[in-house]
Amino acid sequence: MASLKLENISKKYPNGFHAVKNLNLDIKDGEFISLVGPSGCGKSTTLRMVAGLEDITGGKLYIGDKLANDVPAKDRGIAMVFQSYALFPHMTVEANIGFGLKIRKVDDKIKREKIQWALKLLDLEGLEKRRPSELSGGQRQRVALGRALVLDPEVLLLDEPLSNLDAKLRIKMRTELKRIHKKLKSTIIYVTHDQAEAMTLSDRIAIMNKGKLMQVASPTEIYNCPNNKFVAGFIGSPPMNFIEGSVEMIGDDYVFNYNGGKYTLPKNIHQVIKEKIKGKDVVIGVRPEDFDISLQATDNAIKGVSSVIETLGSDDYVAVEIGKQLISVRIEPGSTFPLDQDVYLIPKANKIHMYDNAKD
Ligand code: ATP
Repeated sequence: MASLKLENISKKYPNGFHAVKNLNLDIKDGEFISLVGPSGCGKSTTLRMVAGLEDITGGKLYIGDKLANDVPAKDRGIAMVFQSYALFPHMTVEANIGFGLKIRKVDDKIKREKIQWALKLLDLEGLEKRRPSELSGGQRQRVALGRALVLDPEVLLLDEPLSNLDAKLRIKMRTELKRIHKKLKSTIIYVTHDQAEAMTLSDRIAIMNKGKLMQVASPTEIYNCPNNKFVAGFIGSPPMNFIEGSVEMIGDDYVFNYNGGKYTLPKNIHQVIKEKIKGKDVVIGVRPEDFDISLQATDNAIKGVSSVIETLGSDDYVAVEIGKQLISVRIEPGSTFPLDQDVYLIPKANKIHMYDNAKD
């Protein structure tokens, strides 16, 4: 196993496009880290640079404590599993799993033992003689994983490995991957655009946007303390609500002015306000589960109008209009909520986030 250090890593493609910009990331030995972000943000490019499939055009990559920028892909001790699995269609499951070992001319007995180990680990026993076309999506995905794991990689790179599977199988394989990681303790970099996957699997999540790293932290910290508006809006489903406005100081209080209304902000975010605003336009961010909602006129609340109910089964949400802004508020599932009524929203005091609207 190995640690990884990405120091100011950049990628400029030959056409001049700057796909990855000064990325800094320390990945611990045995850590499961996910790279997430919208399509085109540079996740796969980063992974391919680590794998050695793409030149690094700026910065340094260390694998363990060795500078690896110019180390050929095959000598990096890294295995990669692609979204497409890239299995050989004419080969059986065991031949596919053993392919890398054969290329490396590994002794036959050891090869057989390793294939057996992978078949057992990945619950593929009994399918050894089948070809990929005779397997389900999940089974193919496990064969691709087996082919990587038998090489004892120091680092395992997974590029959206579950995206071809149906929703049920994805969740099953998610658990499976977690189990495998727990057992093997390999260093894993996992690329996904699925935040639920990243949240459930990772020790830490690195969120990227437009080639830049926006935040790297544990799933809990990312969810509870997103340090910019992009991360706040990207992680969470339904996403965090943003209410636009500005802040003024009245006496000792900070008052949030929004759509003609005024809301006195709780004391505990005064420090954040001081750092963030200085007279600028701001947004406050509140997750749907972090409001108390009432039909009774309430002092110091954010006023809106209940619009529609959305039911997800486990949770219900009421959409509330605040002027032109529509925000989502979680309510008791199955409860009936009157629509087209004035409602009063009180954000939980320690759950209010504030961002500079122009900058973050
Ligand atoms: P997705 O989730 O859609 O796979 P991604 O975050 O993995 O996206 P990358 O594949 O890393 O994104 O691509 C990052 C950016 O670099 C994209 O805007 C893409 O169009 C661009 N790009 C990728 N390959 C090349 C190339 N060979 N030449 C020029 N630009 C490229």
